Amino acid sequence: MTQSSTTTDAGAPLAEGGTGIRIDGLTKTFTTGRRSVTALQDTDLHTDRGSFLALLGPSGCGKSTILRILADLETPTTGEVRVDGKTPHELRASGELGIAFQDHALLPWRSVRSNIRLPFEVAGRRVDDAYIDELIALVGLQGFEKARPAQLSGGMRQRVSIARALALKPSVLLLDEPFGALDDMTRQNLNLELLRIWSEKPATTLLVTHGISEAIFLSDRVAVMSPRPGRVKEIIEVDLARPRTPEMQRTPEFHALVDRASELLFGADGRAAAES
Ligand code: ADP
Ligand code: MG
Repeated sequence: MTQSSTTTDAGAPLAEGGTGIRIDGLTKTFTTGRRSVTALQDTDLHTDRGSFLALLGPSGCGKSTILRILADLETPTTGEVRVDGKTPHELRASGELGIAFQDHALLPWRSVRSNIRLPFEVAGRRVDDAYIDELIALVGLQGFEKARPAQLSGGMRQRVSIARALALKPSVLLLDEPFGALDDMTRQNLNLELLRIWSEKPATTLLVTHGISEAIFLSDRVAVMSPRPGRVKEIIEVDLARPRTPEMQRTPEFHALVDRASELLFGADGRAAAES
């Protein structure tokens, strides 16, 4: 057993008066014609300001729906959603939000550089060219500044959208499988860079990922979701020290946390949990 603990509640705030993400009793039903799908049912999720939370769960359990609601791209059917005391709408309007979604299209007629510059223009802020250069280097796109999205590989396009999400040094970061299409090496490097940036200015971060090790390595908490209807099944507290280093991924503590998450996702015998 590790010193790590798990809680079955939605994760009580670590600090008194903690802000961060507060999702209470969130239900989302999509209705198309006569069919309706309950993507989320009575979901609670709480994190502290500046903490890193990963969402793990099988396909279709409502992970993207949670992020889309936080990003003000969908509205809740019922329930309360606040981030640092703001509604999703207020959050988006404040320019404090950085988002990188798997399907978040880059503007095809704009270059790499010009896509990363976009958030400054939308927010009406002075363009920080030096920081844009830094971000381009960070995601390994030097030499491709003038390229259009169509000239890039899928992985490179994802890296542009991550750089764009970070452009305004947001205080809230929503990442939906941003590294999904990348090879393991690039993914590991980007995870380390993401950690470095996040450590410099800890944004309240929600990351959707399929990578169990990645979720444990990056996060303060990992929320494991169950499907049909989607809800948070359990929160795993990751009490590994920071700064995190790649070597930590080889410790017994790390492996115990990965095993715990796998067990919640797939059941103790390794098969997908039976659906009721
Ligand atoms: P995940 O990201 O965990 O794979 P989603 O949040 O994308 O899951 O979807 C949760 C459920 O809601 C799925 O059953 C999906 O088909 C449904 N869903 C999501 N968005 C819509 C939509 N715009 N219209 C109808 N159903 C939707
Ligand atoms: Mg999704």
